[in-house]
Amino acid sequence: MNRPTALVLHGGAGVLAERSYEREVAHLRDLAEEGKALLGAGEQAVDIAVKLVRAMEESALYVAGRGASPNTAGRYELDASIMEGPTRKAGAVAALEGFISPITAARVVMEATPHVLIAGAGAAEIARAHAIEEITDPENYYQPAAVPDGREIATGTVGCVVLDAHGALCGATSTGGTLRKRWGRVGDTPIIGSGTWADARVAVSCTGQGEFFMRANAAADVSARMRYLGSNLDEAVKGVLDDIAELGGDGGIIAVDSKGHVSAQYNSQGMKHAILHADGRIEAGMTR
Ligand code: ASP
Repeated sequence: MNRPTALVLHGGAGVLAERSYEREVAHLRDLAEEGKALLGAGEQAVDIAVKLVRAMEESALYVAGRGASPNTAGRYELDASIMEGPTRKAGAVAALEGFISPITAARVVMEATPHVLIAGAGAAEIARAHAIEEITDPENYYQPAAVPDGREIATGTVGCVVLDAHGALCGATSTGGTLRKRWGRVGDTPIIGSGTWADARVAVSCTGQGEFFMRANAAADVSARMRYLGSNLDEAVKGVLDDIAELGGDGGIIAVDSKGHVSAQYNSQGMKHAILHADGRIEAGMTR
């Protein structure tokens, strides 16, 4: 039996309309190609999501991982979360300092602890206990992507949603947070239901002004709209973004459903993204 597979990646909905994002879009396209090969080889959604998000974290092209910006206290506090559709198991880290791949630490929380969200020094301790790679030279490691050529973007989270060949969905999101965030500020990204969601119906990853996504319970609301309103995927994603706009916020959402339908929408100026459609086509860009 040939089950549909699909995936969507985002590199953040905070974009400057006049700036070129060719490098980021080319990178996302390459990752979508890699995801296609992994899906074709029968890899699990969770493994694919972690691998692709980690590649974005390490690239320094986005406001996540190496490209994150310091907070107002000059510290790099990173957030990430992951959720598996079939089991609704989830894991997240908030205000994590000192690790190359926050999404890998989030996976440890999901798989090796009875908890969903671990913050700060406690998150670092569990990451260290599981031999997650530490940053050895923090002074020189970070290359904030938010200030390209002296021009600033406020947001640039990364995310991935996958439907694998076994019918499993997974959503994953990682961020350095918003530009000049306060020390200790945590946004939507590590909050299951706000920044990330996956169940048997749909996998979702969000980017944008996190405070609004938290107040809209954005990621879980995509699934709720499909379940209770009978909305299709695009309608559900649009409904959530409309709700966020009504609150005064902006951002973007990527999602894939159990049938392999995909959605990548935003109400900001654009969202770096790449889509692998169920028919094998790959699309990548900043606007669509
Ligand atoms: N949503 C993230 C946050 O508020 C920022 C982003 O999407 O770039 O932390």
